[in-house]
Amino acid sequence: MRRITEVTPTTEGSTTMCDHSPECPSAGDTDCCTAHVTADHSEQGWCRLCNGVILFDDGAYLTPEGRPMELRRSA
Ligand SMILES: [Zn+2]
Repeated sequence: MRRITEVTPTTEGSTTMCDHSPECPSAGDTDCCTAHVTADHSEQGWCRLCNGVILFDDGAYLTPEGRPMELRRSA
């Protein structure tokens, strides 16, 4: 059986393989962008976080489900 090693967005179970301590917040958490960076593409303006979130350097981020979110909030 072949396994896909790359993290792909799925809805079944938990795909988070976090070995950080303390564990990174999940993608659904409000502080999800504080997770560790696992793939730094800052030269392209984004990086992938441990929980699958794609964080852009303009303050927006993308959930593993592909939902665009805004980091900054108009308080
Ligand atoms: Zn982690």
